[in-house]
Amino acid sequence: MNFSLEGLSYEALEAQLAESGVNPVHAKPLFRAVHRRLLRNDLDSAEGVLPPLQRWLASEQAAKSCAMELVGDTSSADGFTRKYLLRLHDGAEVESVQMGFPGRYTACLSSQVGCAMGCVFCATGQMGFSRHLTASEIVAQVHQVERELRRTQGGTIRNIVMMGMGEPLHNFEPTMEALDIITDNRGLNIGPARVAISTVGYIPGIRKLTRHSKRYSLAVSLHGASDEERGQLIPLNKRWPLVELLDACREYSALKRARVFFAWTLIGGVNDSDDHAQRLVDILKGMDAHVNLIPLNPTEGYKEQAPGEERVRAFQQIIQDAGLPSTVRQRRGIDVAAGCGQLKAQRVKRTR
Ligand code: SF4
Repeated sequence: MNFSLEGLSYEALEAQLAESGVNPVHAKPLFRAVHRRLLRNDLDSAEGVLPPLQRWLASEQAAKSCAMELVGDTSSADGFTRKYLLRLHDGAEVESVQMGFPGRYTACLSSQVGCAMGCVFCATGQMGFSRHLTASEIVAQVHQVERELRRTQGGTIRNIVMMGMGEPLHNFEPTMEALDIITDNRGLNIGPARVAISTVGYIPGIRKLTRHSKRYSLAVSLHGASDEERGQLIPLNKRWPLVELLDACREYSALKRARVFFAWTLIGGVNDSDDHAQRLVDILKGMDAHVNLIPLNPTEGYKEQAPGEERVRAFQQIIQDAGLPSTVRQRRGIDVAAGCGQLKAQRVKRTR
């Protein structure tokens, strides 16, 4: 059970209060204080928090705030990308990133400590898997970023991407609980359409996401258009090959009436040729799809490099000419090691 305040949905909070003999009507000011005002310590003096709730907050039965400490923090040269290293109650550390511009910030969140998927180019994959995060620990990351934004930029988070450490669909229930809280209009009220869940192809999770009550965007990391090539970058492809992955994506797109976003990390000499671009077009034919092209963010454990700008443009031209919408994702924040797991990896190395 998850008893931290951040991880309780509105309904779960009402149930907790009722169980303790407090009228559930008190859930409203408390939920607002936790998720809108982002209070942690002085909840009992928040607006609308009346004596019965104050007594409950002081009692043993009350849910407490999620323990999370900011232990590292680095900003990009342009000041818009900021990466946070957060220590959890058991000493585990995860990263969250704020990206964007004033007025439209995106928070990139972690779903696990480490990752079991082992993608070869990824700093988190190179660490291995430690544990899943709880819903509280996922929501608390958003609060951390939002608090800092309000304090430093006067801004606010408009979008959420589950693209930090971990495979979110491998930690399905806590991730969905957290996102349902973050998108609750009685709290932070970030629209579900502004939430993207990134996966390397964890098919049972895609199928469940397709049937989830809220419609979150699906972003699938492809990086290869054949099982042989993709399998060399993403070991999970051996378990769930491309044909099954694309079938699950088509089902999501049809049932949710939504476009699927595909990420293609461009790796020089590995998957950046004209032929690769043409095969990407071929496998996505007929699907409501958008491709995000991401020049490789270099990591210590993977020797390959990003292609030059000209090659990136040529690759994009081929898929654009075929009518497949695409965007080249700028490598913003590379000076803050903004690829997932990189800040933690650097810290581990420094402390060895
Ligand atoms: S890319 Fe994502 S799924 Fe793959 S190892 Fe890294 S965190 Fe895990």
